[in-house]
Amino acid sequence: MSLNTQVNTDTGSLNQVDAIVVGAGFAGLYMLHRLRDQLGLKAEVFESADGVGGTWYWNRYPGARCDIPSHHYSYSFSEELQQEWTWSEKYAAQPEILSYLNYVANKFDLLRDIQFKTRVTAAVYDEASQCWDVETDTGRRVRAKYLVLAVGTLSSANIPQFKGHGSFKGKTYFTGHWPKDGVDFTGKRVGIIGTGATAMQAIPLIAEEAAHLTVFQRTPNYAAPLVNEPMNADIDRQVKANYREVRDAAWESFAGVPFDKLKPSALDDSQAQREAHYATCWNDGGFSLWIGSYGDILFNREANETAAEFVRAKIREKVRDPAVAELLCPPVGQAYGTKRQPCETGYYETFNRDNVTLADIKRAPIEEITATGLRTASAEYELDCLVYATGFDAFTGSMFKMDIRGRNGQSLQDRWSAGPRTYLGLATHGFPNMFMITGPQSPSVLFNMPLGIEQHCEWISDCIEHMNRNGLQTIEANTEYEDQWIAHVKEIADSTLLPKADSWYLGANIPGKPRVFLVYLGGGKQYKQICNEVVAKGYQGFTLTAGHAHNSARQKSDAALVD
Ligand code: NAP
Repeated sequence: MSLNTQVNTDTGSLNQVDAIVVGAGFAGLYMLHRLRDQLGLKAEVFESADGVGGTWYWNRYPGARCDIPSHHYSYSFSEELQQEWTWSEKYAAQPEILSYLNYVANKFDLLRDIQFKTRVTAAVYDEASQCWDVETDTGRRVRAKYLVLAVGTLSSANIPQFKGHGSFKGKTYFTGHWPKDGVDFTGKRVGIIGTGATAMQAIPLIAEEAAHLTVFQRTPNYAAPLVNEPMNADIDRQVKANYREVRDAAWESFAGVPFDKLKPSALDDSQAQREAHYATCWNDGGFSLWIGSYGDILFNREANETAAEFVRAKIREKVRDPAVAELLCPPVGQAYGTKRQPCETGYYETFNRDNVTLADIKRAPIEEITATGLRTASAEYELDCLVYATGFDAFTGSMFKMDIRGRNGQSLQDRWSAGPRTYLGLATHGFPNMFMITGPQSPSVLFNMPLGIEQHCEWISDCIEHMNRNGLQTIEANTEYEDQWIAHVKEIADSTLLPKADSWYLGANIPGKPRVFLVYLGGGKQYKQICNEVVAKGYQGFTLTAGHAHNSARQKSDAALVD
């Protein structure tokens, strides 16, 4: 049994539940399962879409697929689920990942506690009740002891406001908000803005359909081949027979996906040895070159340049027109892999097609979106369709869309005005009982997301269980531990080359966003150890309270109800 009542407040009655979870992607689904089915709490999930999936619901653009092998890019919490689900490809495409998440939602009977088409507009901490009052755009008002933000790191689209924005009379599409019924580009003149991981997946497929495709590139990117293939039945059998070991190996690895060819330093090998090693990793595909080749390429400029030059040589091999190849090659000085390495399938070869043009908008920037297309500093482009593959306001974008207010009415946006302040990427001072899943300053996007999400959901539900069992009302991160954590995240990041790039890891893609490196780079294993030690030391760095006197009856009843 759990708490599920109506309470009266100054502003009328509102439903009370134990926990509210915002978002029904990988994170929200598992969080609900933990809270409801393992702790016996009344938990409610709010989701703005009309189905589960989060990022995999919205990003339906052509070519969308994961670039961590499907066996790894999946939940590990249920052996039964691991055994009964079979992936059809080494790297699953978006429709299959979305089917998987729907399957999970049905298997664990999650849908009945998810309110779809419901966007959380505000979440305000009420000091008197020591609970969160949550409001939605459908007029729901719900009070909860715990608030869990499972809103995803890459959910809020970055839509550049070029002059003339909105004036294009043709069709405009956003990759992060792709129409459910798909788009037929046959016979159309299409323009796509952006050459990040998303655009690199979409461009080859759009080019196959369109009459003409113009790619508007501001910054060239280093990509490696994905090397996708149909699922090999023997590999699938082997993984399923040894799934525990497969997951353990993932947790032993830096990014939650094991690579077995990592050597310490690119500078220890001769050029011939290095090129052979890079070629092996390149042919393995995915992130093998990026995080599985040499341990120093993301730390040492000279080592990095050897990998960068290897990729440039590959681009020159693949692209027939030398001028186009040069434009696609990131220049010396733009380090390899300091922006997230996209994985491609036929991307570079697409520029050999007669119906594809590469427009350099670094040299000749977009000046205006017009009724018939767009104008750059050097040319006018007539288009039927314009695709924005311009990325995300990562980490904080989705959180700031809600009016989240903690103690004393302070908004999250104000408290984080100089950049996110978290302890472990899980909590922030002044916002008691509010947890973030894969929040800023956790390993998040530089770790296998489903595994990282599971670790966070388990940490949060164990914490809630601990609180309820001990009759505690609030948990809140302490500022000095927050300071230490932020310094620790920065120190590790600064030992690498990553903060030197203008990437979304630092918020550098969003004008005016504070430039703070937002990913913990110590690796998932070390991070998990730290989180576990914090618990072992009695939630070191957090203040846990038994709550106000007038709440004590409820604390006792909470504890009794969940035990
Ligand atoms: P992104 O990496 O931020 O790329 C956005 C692109 O749009 C860049 O080429 C950027 O150019 C361009 N752009 C942005 N604003 C612009 C402006 N005002 N004018 C001109 N160009 C502009 O975004 P993304 O490609 O969506 O990828 C984001 C992340 O999502 C990836 O890094 C990855 O983590 C994730 N993702 C994962 C997968 C997967 O799992 N397979 C697939 C896709 C994406 P600049 O570089 O010059 O800023």
